Amino acid sequence: MTDEPCLFCKIVAGDIPSDVVHEDDVILAFNDISPVAPVHQLIIPRRHIASAADLSEEDAALLGRMFAVAADLARAAGLASPGYRIVTNVGPDGGQSVAHLHLHLLGGRAMTWPPG
Ligand code: 5GP
Ligand code: ZN
Repeated sequence: MTDEPCLFCKIVAGDIPSDVVHEDDVILAFNDISPVAPVHQLIIPRRHIASAADLSEEDAALLGRMFAVAADLARAAGLASPGYRIVTNVGPDGGQSVAHLHLHLLGGRAMTWPPG
């Protein structure tokens, strides 16, 4: 069924419940169901975009909004001073498991580098 909405499109539609931390006309953000850090939130566009590989210059405003929301959420979670990580995975080797663009906001512990 190629027309089946993706998992995050179902979350945007409200067909799958989520723990929403921010919503506006173009963006939804919610807590990750399987957190890998004390703060682990996902920032997604309401519109389906498969990954960062599918962005174009026309999406510049959307991307700006996504990063601004991530920074607001980080401040709200008390992460501004200790710092945090924003990650987006692309494709199988990038570790992407849901094919709908999302920023991971990770914080509340010191991150390691390089990532696994
Ligand atoms: P990716 O692996 O694509 O970079 O990130 C997908 C993220 O979505 C994972 O961190 C995973 O835990 C999260 N996730 C998968 N299914 C659900 C769900 O149904 N609800 C929520 N809130 N997060 C999910
Ligand atoms: Zn989608």
